[in-house]
Amino acid sequence: MAGRVALVTGGTRGIGRAIAEALQKAGYTVAANYGGNEEIAKAFTAETGIPAYKFDVADFAACQEGIGRVTADLGPIEVLVNNAGITRDTTIHRMTFEQWNAVIQTNLASCFNLSRLVIDGMRERNFGRIVNIGSINGQAGQYGQVNYAAAKSGIHGFTKALAQEGAAKGITVNAIAPGYIDTEMVRAVPPNVLEKIVARVPVGRLGRADEIARGVLFLVADDAGFITGSTLSINGGQHMY
Ligand code: NDP
Repeated sequence: MAGRVALVTGGTRGIGRAIAEALQKAGYTVAANYGGNEEIAKAFTAETGIPAYKFDVADFAACQEGIGRVTADLGPIEVLVNNAGITRDTTIHRMTFEQWNAVIQTNLASCFNLSRLVIDGMRERNFGRIVNIGSINGQAGQYGQVNYAAAKSGIHGFTKALAQEGAAKGITVNAIAPGYIDTEMVRAVPPNVLEKIVARVPVGRLGRADEIARGVLFLVADDAGFITGSTLSINGGQHMY
């Protein structure tokens, strides 16, 4: 795997950062994408040496331009981790079309945008690894998250369909469904709600970003070629089925 080029979307903070750093430590040549938080991206690159590329994963043309820059700098992308995601939580009777659409475009359409742009190269080289970051809330649903649950649930279907298309070409496509992980996204959940959530986790705590990164490393390994179309749940036992 030494030197394989890996792109992690939303890779400058939270779970994405942990994934980017774990891949780097394992010998991959890593690029991290981000959406607009310059300060965090600059600090990330200064601390890790991993280059950060700003482009909007919800925008196909922007992804095309961004992938072009990554490829020109580092070479063809062999490992893609679709991690970038947002929340716009509220119940459906308060949800605007903009809140619905932003989450669908950023969390789900992004998986099409990026995968579409790397798939031709992966097919030509007969090797590829795609990992899509879903969510426990895409598996089980969550009050106040019809947009997020729909997008994440869509990721799980997208993963299984693309896995079938890629299989004969050495391309594996898998999903990880994290439970509640201690990042800014979860810190935005009101403390009283979070307390109730943690009470339902058999392991008794929030997960850590590096515990998701561990799953990604497993799925993208060269010798993981027989694992495709699967969803790895990493949730402290909160949701089993
Ligand atoms: P964070 O909010 O901590 O980080 C999100 C990352 O995505 C940032 O790097 C951000 O860039 C980037 N991003 C957001 N929108 C865009 C965009 N339009 N284009 C490019 N980059 C964008 O999120 P987490 O680390 O908590 O979550 C990572 C993934 O894991 C998400 O898909 C999330 O849904 C999923 N997940 C998280 C869980 C959790 O408990 N935290 C649980 C289950 C799933 P910038 O800094 O520039 O804004």
